[in-house]
Amino acid sequence: MDFLEDIEILDCPICGGAALLEEENGWCLYVTCLDCGCSTAEIPFKNEEEKKDAARRAVNTWNMGKVISMGPGE
Ligand SMILES: [Zn+2]
Repeated sequence: MDFLEDIEILDCPICGGAALLEEENGWCLYVTCLDCGCSTAEIPFKNEEEKKDAARRAVNTWNMGKVISMGPGE
């Protein structure tokens, strides 16, 4: 997604692993960790303009450490 060039995604706040911005079936975006599987809430969008905004919000949420851990017992 080339419009993300100016957005920096920090490493996972839980495990320090690499993070990835994922698009889900063309209606929402979220950031997930490739190592531990935690992720942000899904940010929905309706069009390309909203998609850019959703991507920034997802990354900002991630960078603030507001993530949902899928790990057991956490
Ligand atoms: Zn992680």
